[in-house]
Amino acid sequence: MTANVPVIAIHNLHKSYGELEVLRGVDITAPKGHVVSLIGSSGSGKSTLLRCCNLLEDSQEGEILFDGNPVLWAGSGPDRRPASATQVRQIRTNLSMVFQQFNLWAHLTVLQNVMEAPLVVQKRDRAEVEAKARAYLAKVGIGDKADAWPSQLSGGQQQRAAIARALCMEPQALLFDEPTSALDPELEQEVIKVIKDLAAEGRTMIIVTHDMRMAADISDHVIFLHQGVIEEEGTPQALFGAPKSQRLQQFLSASQ
Ligand code: ADP
Ligand code: MG
Repeated sequence: MTANVPVIAIHNLHKSYGELEVLRGVDITAPKGHVVSLIGSSGSGKSTLLRCCNLLEDSQEGEILFDGNPVLWAGSGPDRRPASATQVRQIRTNLSMVFQQFNLWAHLTVLQNVMEAPLVVQKRDRAEVEAKARAYLAKVGIGDKADAWPSQLSGGQQQRAAIARALCMEPQALLFDEPTSALDPELEQEVIKVIKDLAAEGRTMIIVTHDMRMAADISDHVIFLHQGVIEEEGTPQALFGAPKSQRLQQFLSASQ
């Protein structure tokens, strides 16, 4: 991957659910090594945008580039064709998602959860995957929980297992959808620490978050989404320090 080519770039994305126009021409770019935070009120389209990035959702118009290459699912008019199965797989394995509700498989141990996609989807070697899985579990601070069931873990531990699972895919970027929203405040901090460590390592990430302090601390770029359009975007200093839009000002004062 070339240094200056964004891992994922989306231009002029339009997405509707039936009559409801959820995204109305949105651009988002995740340059390699950057952290992009996505903020906005509930219902503004943040999750939808994240899900469009890794093709969990189709969209009606716009362009999606992965590692500089157009994905056929994007585009408009006659250029608009579904992504091939290969492209979908390439994008899904390279943009690993971490969800608000962890979404661990209850019938698999923590270690099996982390190993599942690398083995089944990526068809990697079992010994290599197990070594990496154990290393990532240790990295997020739950190396001793490898043989536990998800139900035996706290919410913070489950979310850290979900992060280890995303990392074990060796993705080009990580997508987080409100990773700390389901956690009690004291458990939130252990997950925030892991995310901060990943940012410091130079991982490419797009993070939907309600945690303005974390967004201010780790982001290279912050996007404020309002009713399906980007109302304001810029550096964390600019957005949090000197917000221009009145809607952003209101949003920030309500988020304190
Ligand atoms: P956010 O993550 O910012 O809270 P979402 O992207 O989840 O917002 O939702 C944006 C809008 O799209 C909301 O009005 C929501 O009700 C609607 N929406 C989300 N998913 C669906 C769906 N699968 N079908 C219909 N409407 C949906
Ligand atoms: Mg959401």
